[in-house]
Amino acid sequence: MKLKCGFEWHVQLDTNKLFCSCPSLLIDKDKDIEIKRRFKASLGESGKADITASFEEGKARDVIYEAPVEASCLVEADEEPPHEINKEALKIALEMSNALNCKIFDEIIFMRKVIIDGSNTSGFQRTALIAIDGSFKVKDKNIGIATINLEEDSARRLGSNLNVAKFKLDRLGIPLVEIATELIETDEEELKEIAEEFGRFTRLFKVKRGIGTIRQDVNLSIEGGSRVELKGFQDIRHMDRVIVNEAERQKSLLKLINDRGYLSQNLNSINNKGLNQILSSTKSELIIRGIKSDKLVLGIGFKNFKGIFGYKLCEGKRFGSEVSDYLKALFGAGIIHSDELPAYGISLDDVRKVKEELNLGEDDAFLITIIKKEEKERAIDSILNRIRSLLASVPTEVRAVNEDNTSSFLRPIGGKDRMYIETDLPIVEVEKDLLKEAEKFKGFSTESLKSKYGLNDDTLNLLIKAKKLDLALKLNLELKLDFNTIKKVLVEDLTYVRHKLSLDLDENAAIDILKQIADGTITKEASAPILERMALNEFKSVDEAIKKLNLRKLDKDELKKEILPIIKSGKLNENDIIISLKQKVGPRFDYNEAISVIQTLNGKKGNN
Ligand SMILES: [Zn+2]
Repeated sequence: MKLKCGFEWHVQLDTNKLFCSCPSLLIDKDKDIEIKRRFKASLGESGKADITASFEEGKARDVIYEAPVEASCLVEADEEPPHEINKEALKIALEMSNALNCKIFDEIIFMRKVIIDGSNTSGFQRTALIAIDGSFKVKDKNIGIATINLEEDSARRLGSNLNVAKFKLDRLGIPLVEIATELIETDEEELKEIAEEFGRFTRLFKVKRGIGTIRQDVNLSIEGGSRVELKGFQDIRHMDRVIVNEAERQKSLLKLINDRGYLSQNLNSINNKGLNQILSSTKSELIIRGIKSDKLVLGIGFKNFKGIFGYKLCEGKRFGSEVSDYLKALFGAGIIHSDELPAYGISLDDVRKVKEELNLGEDDAFLITIIKKEEKERAIDSILNRIRSLLASVPTEVRAVNEDNTSSFLRPIGGKDRMYIETDLPIVEVEKDLLKEAEKFKGFSTESLKSKYGLNDDTLNLLIKAKKLDLALKLNLELKLDFNTIKKVLVEDLTYVRHKLSLDLDENAAIDILKQIADGTITKEASAPILERMALNEFKSVDEAIKKLNLRKLDKDELKKEILPIIKSGKLNENDIIISLKQKVGPRFDYNEAISVIQTLNGKKGNN
């Protein structure tokens, strides 16, 4: 299917927080401190309130924050201004910007993006534009990179109901790099490939791993449709399915607008009635529960609307669900519509009574919703506005991805009215050194790494998985060691020792060992025995271990001295000699050197 899509990737960096020195950790234990807040929409620079902010304010909820002391401080609680920007996070953002061939700004200005759903204690998110205008290559396709922002992650949502939203402050302030692409002309299969390739790309940097550490939003429009932002892809393996469903939803809606959009004029004279009396003997538990809890069972009639609410937009979504999702987001109550009845215990007789009450004929339709009595007018307005906008065009909005690969209305898309300048932070001039350091990452990608260093996929993946790629690159440069040796000592041997002894050993010993290998003091086969004994705390340094364990590599003369008696004992086959040599001196020799000595001694080679 032909699509126009853009990605917005949010990647958590593996550093401390952006504006304080708290660690970027998620804390899974009971609350220490609880903070309660209530948010109001304030006017933006343009003098208007942001549409999203007004929408959230309409919900009038309390927000409760759990503040674990291990991963939050007064900055997250918004009781103290932000500290100086985390340089390491900035450095990684610059590295990524270079790798994506972007133009980088030398001054960074933080802005406040109004968000008052409670996910930020301050009521805004701090975000700064770092770079623009880059590119990312997937196979032979160039994806335009529009912007790269450095921003703070929001608080972690623990749950919410109509009255209270609950968050944890541990995630708030974790540095995020937000990368937005230009619109890509593509199809659903390729879109998935791009997402996967981008995932691999991010892992080349110091980023967090695991569920929720990289979040992808996709905005999508089809011909004649509108921009819809899809948020919260749980599993990118199903991304293609979600995209196809959304494209189909927009297409079907456009068809419906074309065929019956004129019906929105009928919305000017709708009929509504409380149905508590006439449905008092219904078998529907849902309605009886509503009546018993003193709510209003509201019926709204729509002339000539038969078939509209039941109209299928895509698998699992009907026109009625679009109205229902919207109302749920605002009031926590959905709708029941006449096209799906009888159902939910509502009988044909109930339907007949409601139609009579609302004065409806054969071609008409009705909705039922169960709400608080005082919400009646607002609910009717909301329902009518939603239907009006659905019958006019595909509404521009943010939609949450559901488990069944459909999506549901989440909130309106925020506009320009939601940004204003952050006055608590100075303009950050990017230091020349930092810029220069990050320049090394120009054009950095999995492909460039493979071709530049001759890394194969297995070694690259292993180093990435172990989060040792940057260290390996550094050691390769400094020690001139090949990646196989680095991988063996730094990943395989360390992992082996950790598993075997269930002891934790830091990587410094492995780095020291690699230095000794580079100097020719030991062979790479000596690394595991040294690491093992060091993990047991038997030696203070690698040097000491080499001496006490007698693991120094033999030079050629010493090798000759060891090999000669083996040959004299009658062994002439190279493999047999190597086996005997290994029994005698352990890992103290280099295989190729030993072969060369054997060949000389056997007279196969003249020199040496
Ligand atoms: Zn903090």
